Amino acid sequence: MGLFESENQPRRTAVVLGGGMAGLFAANVLSDHFERVTVVERDDGGKDEWRPGVPQSRHVHVLLLRGVEILRRQFPGLEEELLALGAPPLNWLQETAVLAAGGWLPRFNLDLLGFSVSRDLLERQVREHLRRRANIHFRNGHRVTRLCANSDNSRITGAVCAANGDSVTLHADLVVDACGRASRLPEWLAEFGYPEPRESTVNADVGYTTRWYRIPAGWQAEWKMVLLGTRFPDISGGAVVQPVEDNRWVVTLVGYAGNHPPTDEAGFEEFARNLIGPQVWEAISAAQPLSGIIGYRRTENHWRHFEGLKRWPQGLIALGDSVCAFNPVYAQGMTVSALSAEVLDGVLRDSGSAELGLAFQKKLAKMLQTPWQLATSDDFRWAGRAAGDATLFDRFMHLYLEHVLDRIQRKDVCLTFFNVAHLVSPPVSLFRPGLAIPILWDMAKAAVGGGSRSRPAALSR
Ligand SMILES: Cc1cc2nc3c(=O)[nH]c(=O)nc-3n(C[C@H](O)[C@H](O)[C@H](O)COP(=O)(O)OP(=O)(O)OC[C@H]3O[C@@H](n4cnc5c(N)ncnc54)[C@H](O)[C@@H]3O)c2cc1C
Repeated sequence: MGLFESENQPRRTAVVLGGGMAGLFAANVLSDHFERVTVVERDDGGKDEWRPGVPQSRHVHVLLLRGVEILRRQFPGLEEELLALGAPPLNWLQETAVLAAGGWLPRFNLDLLGFSVSRDLLERQVREHLRRRANIHFRNGHRVTRLCANSDNSRITGAVCAANGDSVTLHADLVVDACGRASRLPEWLAEFGYPEPRESTVNADVGYTTRWYRIPAGWQAEWKMVLLGTRFPDISGGAVVQPVEDNRWVVTLVGYAGNHPPTDEAGFEEFARNLIGPQVWEAISAAQPLSGIIGYRRTENHWRHFEGLKRWPQGLIALGDSVCAFNPVYAQGMTVSALSAEVLDGVLRDSGSAELGLAFQKKLAKMLQTPWQLATSDDFRWAGRAAGDATLFDRFMHLYLEHVLDRIQRKDVCLTFFNVAHLVSPPVSLFRPGLAIPILWDMAKAAVGGGSRSRPAALSR
């Protein structure tokens, strides 16, 4: 059996619908398993910095350390290229001022080394790497309008695209939907008689507002990046100052539960001035704006449970935001896309194409559980009753996490918390006995009225 064959079907051609991060990561993996991979993207591939297909790229995009790890493995040399192009290296915790749930994380040097880059540059360089692979091809300026199927609709056989007023049909042994949040996959499948998936939504009504700045010459501060988190229910506004290539800051203000940062200059500045820490206001009042003020509101956690469908055609999979999109505050989307590509790689290596289709969606769903839980746990509280009642488990976790944060000044606790938030370690690591036993003891004491926890104090710095 040749490299591009499996027991059940040939692996000649794969078509990836959508050339965002999820599509690109998937194409990279597929090129090891298919003779030819085509990435179809509605944007025309022009040189504009902010392409219209991904309006979110104008806002802060932080790559979690798990994402950095995968990138290093999947795209050797990419990190060095990004650094050479001006992306600042970042020693997490040491060089970042992070306010989590009302308390500052300590500033240890734990050699948590990543980098900080705009979404646009990261995507361009990943695409550049893919262009170097002879079996990956790009069809830009092609908008997918529907899928094609065989005569009994049991197999997806390709996709139809609109391009320059024409209709183009691309045939493939495997079609991968990576069209993002706005993917029309459920409608496309319904055309062939497949049921709609159940959907889960947890909407904390978060608004983003962003402006780009030139970092002032000679700027000195005790941080390279600032993240001001929120705290339910009293601190609904947060912000990020992210340093990126070309000596710029991306400054994103964030507001929960409808407290959306305004998009006019006076309102934007007022919001920044009233944040819980002074760092963001100090930075932007010293810096020269490079852009207008841009808002973004489509931030709900949204999961289409394709894995739960009884029927699903062969020759099709979906990943990225098309399946599960997160409140961006947790910065998980790109890393989860990279993890999804690794799930795909594992399936193709271990089981062959037989495991593609519904079996892949089930494996993907298993991986998605952790980031979904991390993103929605706090958002449930902000979303209020609209999201349904928090389960007993959710309430336990909220309380438990508050106790973890009470102990965050301890190096070991801080590292564990950080690694969970960066998807490096599973949440279960927060329950190792040395941490869990004293916390559970404190919780039990509080439950019988024998004690109360004090909130982390440090709100100013
Ligand atoms: C405001 C905001 C901030 C974010 N911040 C972070 C962050 O800090 N860290 C992080 O990791 N993630 C962040 N994310 C999430 C991140 O952008 C995505 O999760 C990640 O890029 C994966 O997305 P995707 O590739 O599935 O979808 P997208 O990036 O949306 O890409 C989908 C692609 O499909 C194309 N497309 C759509 N429809 C069609 C069609 N019919 N035909 C052809 N092409 C089509 C689009 O043009 C686009 O290129 C943020 C998201 C938002 C909204």
